[in-house]
Amino acid sequence: MDSQQFREAAISSLDQIIIYYETIEDRRVTPTVEPGYLRKLLPEEAPQEGEPWADIQKDIEAKIMPGITHWQSPNFLAWFPSSSSYPGMLGEMWSTAFTGAAFNWICSPAVTELETIVLDWIARAFNLPPCFLSTGPTNGGGVIHGTTSEAIATVMVAARDKYLREATAQITDEDEREDAIALRRGRLVALGSTATHSATKKAAQIAGVRHRAVSVRAEDGYAMTGKGLRETIEALRGRGLEPFYLTATMGTTDVCAVDDMAGIAEVLAELAPPGQKGEIWVHVDAAYAGSSLVCPEYNTVLTTHFDRFHSFNTNLHKWLLVNFDCSVLFVRSRRDLTDALSVTLPILQNAATDSGLVTDYRDWQIPFGRRFRSLKVWFVIRSYGIAGLRSHIRDRVALAEGFAAMVRERSDLFEIVAGPVFALTAFKMRGRGEGASLDEQNELTKKMYERVLADGRIFLSSTVVGGTFAIRHNPTAVLVREHHVKPHFDILVEAAEKTLAEA
Ligand code: PLP
Repeated sequence: MDSQQFREAAISSLDQIIIYYETIEDRRVTPTVEPGYLRKLLPEEAPQEGEPWADIQKDIEAKIMPGITHWQSPNFLAWFPSSSSYPGMLGEMWSTAFTGAAFNWICSPAVTELETIVLDWIARAFNLPPCFLSTGPTNGGGVIHGTTSEAIATVMVAARDKYLREATAQITDEDEREDAIALRRGRLVALGSTATHSATKKAAQIAGVRHRAVSVRAEDGYAMTGKGLRETIEALRGRGLEPFYLTATMGTTDVCAVDDMAGIAEVLAELAPPGQKGEIWVHVDAAYAGSSLVCPEYNTVLTTHFDRFHSFNTNLHKWLLVNFDCSVLFVRSRRDLTDALSVTLPILQNAATDSGLVTDYRDWQIPFGRRFRSLKVWFVIRSYGIAGLRSHIRDRVALAEGFAAMVRERSDLFEIVAGPVFALTAFKMRGRGEGASLDEQNELTKKMYERVLADGRIFLSSTVVGGTFAIRHNPTAVLVREHHVKPHFDILVEAAEKTLAEA
């Protein structure tokens, strides 16, 4: 493809993409294809000769589109969103145009410098404590990872190495020290709660440490409490194990619960004081709900105890108009990351790195090469402004509140299980009469949910919390508007009434 052919293909693709977005609502939100559908539509072998773009483009609609779930549709209310915006897409386009594996500052200084600057902007906009700024008092700072899972695996490795390094610092003999580290490694425990996303357990598997979950209870809104954490730490220590890391969640995946940050900080101040040997590294996983911190009504309250923690991350690609992938991770001490992840090879030697004046982000992450992700963040922030980003969050919170009010009005049919919080409402069917058992409610809600999925006009996800089967409603896809909420609710009412009639 030469530049003229690229121009034509790109303009034509752009037209199609805009039409796709403008008419996305007319498409069924979920595909109806059977597993293996695509193999039947594509040739057994790769083409020997190149094909014209026009033929390739036709196959987007004919072959790919039938297997696409339209995450950007206003009828997509499932899981958490994967946001998209035109400035975000332009950022991806430019990033692709500049393609390079910018592992060091020297690889493309703008890639590193823009990332540091926009992450400081975000830290300030989110009211994060100064320890997470690149210019802050603890030599911390931010870095962009692809996903929360990567961010958690990375900080857990940093926490593990920091803990072991400090625990064995007094041993001067190298062999003895290695033996002591190997012995202690087997005792290390990474903690989350039973409501923490599986990313923490997976990170423990990757880091080669044990994993334990603090139990959460319905009475506490499925949030981890200081009391629960204390019991778990004391029980583990009683068995000779060493908790060294904790994921505290702001906005759990099932119901968007916020762990009791004050309680957690207090218990750790007593059992594993920050800044001292044996401290427990606390990472705040705010994968989805973190974007709400752009609004003062959230950030003045929710960040209160963050200065007592070690790291924080949120996926801007979930709720802040940045296209996938973009997880911003902030650490209070960048040294903890680089001590664990720094690599030195002769081929990497350069004057800028040697000067100590630049950041080489390869040492802040698991992969070596890295994409120019900060460009899309920069485009989004500049296009919307912080005010526009706040409106985006507030509008979606208002949509969820409107939806929850409708659910409450039909208390003959429905009951709210959790929320609305961070624009998420979990609800279930109430069942016939006053005294329907939980089993009956679960059975009815499942049937109703399957009916909604089969109908295909809207797409929601479900979960099970405290034994309750609940449907999750999350109207944060970028194109959802107020006029969608009532028709969506009517579909749910229709499904509930039909399910009851058949019961
Ligand atoms: N943490 C929480 C609270 C989540 O809700 C999710 C996904 O929804 C994750 C972690 C995993 O995110 P990622 O796909 O970015 O690894």
